This record gives sequence, structure tokens and C-alpha cells, in this order.
Amino acid sequence: MEEKKIKKPRGKVRSIEGKCIACGARCESSCPVAAIEMTDGGEPQVLAQKCIGCVKCVKVCPAGALEMFYSAEELELLKKWEAQHDGAEEEVGAEERELRRMLAGYRGVWVFVEQYHGDVAKVSWELMGTGKELAQSLGVELSAVVIGNNVGYLCSEAFAYGADRAILLDSPVYAHYRTKPFTDAVCHLIEKHKPEVILMGATGQGRDLAGAVATVVKTGLTADCTGLAIDDKRNLMQTRPAFGGNIMATIMCDRFRPQMSTVRPHVMPMPERQEGRQGGIVVESFAPREEDVLVKIIEVLSDRDGKDRIDIAGAEVIVSGGRGMMSKENFVLLQELAVELGGVVGASRSAVDAGWIPHARQVGQTGKTVRPRIYIACGISGAIQHLVGMQDSDLIIAINRDPEAPIFQVATYGIVGDLFEIVPAFTRKIRELKILRGSVTPERLAS
Ligand code: FAD
Repeated sequence: MEEKKIKKPRGKVRSIEGKCIACGARCESSCPVAAIEMTDGGEPQVLAQKCIGCVKCVKVCPAGALEMFYSAEELELLKKWEAQHDGAEEEVGAEERELRRMLAGYRGVWVFVEQYHGDVAKVSWELMGTGKELAQSLGVELSAVVIGNNVGYLCSEAFAYGADRAILLDSPVYAHYRTKPFTDAVCHLIEKHKPEVILMGATGQGRDLAGAVATVVKTGLTADCTGLAIDDKRNLMQTRPAFGGNIMATIMCDRFRPQMSTVRPHVMPMPERQEGRQGGIVVESFAPREEDVLVKIIEVLSDRDGKDRIDIAGAEVIVSGGRGMMSKENFVLLQELAVELGGVVGASRSAVDAGWIPHARQVGQTGKTVRPRIYIACGISGAIQHLVGMQDSDLIIAINRDPEAPIFQVATYGIVGDLFEIVPAFTRKIRELKILRGSVTPERLAS
């Protein structure tokens, strides 16, 4: 007599204490029966009487903060069910099977190498380090995508920064970045090679290209990521500030490929350059005819001729001022300190909004992301929108008269006091030390 088929018990979902990262209620929105309610702290409360054990919330949770549990009776049934299905493949519907087949067709991590007349945007090399880690987690190759005119030599550069392979599209039509031909080129390469992850710099060019490519290939794109990692299902966990920087959201694109992210310059560390490291070059020939490209570059005007030539994003030392500086004139105190330290002056948005300093110097969510060796925050409270732009600095010194100011939470050294006393004292002390070491004359100190 045939054994009676046992129906798999569905169980219920429960949350695991302390694991929720308040990702933005992905679990709540995935639940088809409204069995999850969020607490004020953004954590899920599962209404067991409503839960149908569909596992959707468990699957979407990026932090593994939800799990299935079974009653003693269900556990007994589960054991019997497992015995009946020993070794059998998990039962999945046709739609799920098709999805898995599609996902399995995409392999490899790509980094788009952004260049202007052969000068590579540093962020591309920074992404090579992150891409390498992702590729290792996935057990795949890291490829550099190099598109331009006479840029073949950049493939060796890409290998030195960690690429295993370079895909090269070299043609005069790619001499200047133009959205359409570059988008068509990247889409063609995606169609042909099917990568599972593509990283680009969150620069003017990278943002333009990534958005256009994601739209054409119909996949998801997460901009301005601050963290990237792989989960146990090969999904890219893309972390970035959300809701005005008040929460960190981890975003996943688990039903489409490739998974695309942009990352701002200086967010990821620069990998060590390994001179002479080798890799394979795949030379592609896809290129439109110049006459078919509607946009023509007539002249390129460099903004390096503008008034403010300083790029705070690349500075090793930044002395930043906020609303506590009280006036534009007082920024001279910061300038003096910055000069002694070989650094540049930065600012919070409040100082920029007050017209004390140009926007190009703004650090933070709507300004630049910086990662200097030393960041000195003077009269800056430490709002989250400012912190996201500087919290990865190697050493942070905060000067603020309010001992409760949030900036002290990220500071390596905190000085509670009046910046108008502390900053000039700092400058004086450095000058004195320089005199002692003979690197500056006493006349200079007197001036
Ligand atoms: P405040 O918050 O007013 O702080 C001034 C600090 O100076 C205080 O802590 C005070 O104790 C201290 N102080 C005053 N006098 C002295 C003194 N004599 N000596 C020592 N300390 C003194 N902000 C950014 O910085 N960058 C961004 O990119 C950014 N983007 C934003 C994006 C959005 C969507 C939003 C909503 C906001 C953004 N903000 C940004 C603004 C941010 O929320 C804060 O308003 C801003 O950072 C506050 O600037 P602040 O610290 O200079 O000023």
C-alpha cells in the first residue's frame, strides 16, 4: 500500500532579538497577509495568528532577523515529511524555477573604469578593491570594463589594482564620454557576458551611465552606496543612507540581474597597487559609426579654471568649520591652521548656506565624501548628514563647546571648549614646534 503523502507544515515566523537593523520595513511590505507590524523603533512584530508561513519576510530580511518556528506537533510532521522527501529536490513553482535559471546565467563582478583622456577617476581603482572582495565572496572573476580611445594600457593598470580580466572597447568614437554610445556599449557587453554585479563611481559620468544602463537592461540600481557585501544567495547587499541620512538602508535586487551600484569617491579604501600583476584582455569591437551618434562634442571647458580650484575630496588634511564659526571672516583662523598642517578648509552645510564658503567645500550627504588622514571639525554639531561625508576619516578631532554635540561620538579626540581660543592655540603650537625642528623661522611666527 502506498504511504500517505504528508503535507509540509508551514510553521510561523518570529523575530530574533537584537538582529533587526531597521532596514526600512522590507519584511512588512513583503507580507501578503499584513501579519507584520513595525514598532516605533522600526522593528517587526509578527502577529502569529495571521502568519501563513509563506517565508517571504524571512527571505527579504537582509539581517537574518526573522526565522521560522514550528510547534512540537509540526516538528514531528516535518520530520516525517523530510523522511518522505529525503534527497528530493525542493519543490518550486515554474516561475521560481525560471527565476533561478535566469539568475544562474549571470556570473562575475565588473568595475567600470571611468577615464577622461586616459586619466582614470581614482574611484574606479577604489572600486577595484571592493569588487575584488565581492568577487572572492562569489567565487568569480573581477573584470575591469575599459571603454575609450587608445586606452588599452589601462587594462594593465586595472590588473595592478586587482582585476583578473579586462574587457576593452577601444575606438575613436569613445574618445569623449557621451551617454548614448557608452550606454549602448555597456548594454551590449552585459548582454554578451552577463555579469552579476556592476560597480561604477558616483561621479557625474558614473551616475549618468549607471542610470541609463540600468533603465535599458531593466534592472535595479542603488546610488551612493557606503557598504557592499554578498548574502548567502549571491545577492548584493547594498547599504546606503536613506530618509535624509536618518537610517542606513540595505537594498537588494534579488529578482533582476545585473545588480548595479554606484559609490562616491573616497568611500571605499584604495587597494594596494601590485606592479606587474597580469590578467586576460578580452578585446571587443562593438562601436557605432560616428555619423550615427547624434550628440557631438564641440569644445570641452574645464572647470579647473574656476575660482575655487581646491578638491577637498582628495585632501589628506581637512580643517572644517560650521555655524559655530559665526562669520565668513573667522574662516581665516581655519585657513591658518590648514596651511600649517598642509591641508585645506572644508565646511558644514550651514556655513555654506550662510555664504561663508563655496559649496565645493561642503562635506556631507549633499556635499563631498572625504576620507582624509586628519579631519578637524570646528563648531560643527555632527548632524548625520555631515557625518556620512567624513566619518571614515582616519583621525577625527572635534572642537565644540557643547559636550553633548553628536560630533564627539565619531571623534578620535574631542575638545570641549571655545574654538576661538583652541584653533589659534593649535596653530601657534604647530608653528612653535616647526621652529624647534628648524623648519620655520621665528620671523614667520611673529607675523
Ligand atoms: P549647527 O548644527 O548649528 O552646529 C553648530 C555647532 O557649533 C554647535 O554644536 C555649537 O555647540 C558649536 N559652537 C558654536 N559656537 C562655538 C564656539 N565658539 N566654539 C566651539 N563650538 C561652538 N549638513 C552638512 O554639513 N553637509 C551636508 O551635506 C548636508 N546635507 C543635508 C541634506 C539634507 C537632505 C538635509 C535635510 C540636511 C543636510 N545637512 C547637511 C544639514 C545638517 O542637517 C545640519 O543642519 C548641518 O550639518 C548643521 O551644521 P553645523 O553643525 O555647522 O551647525
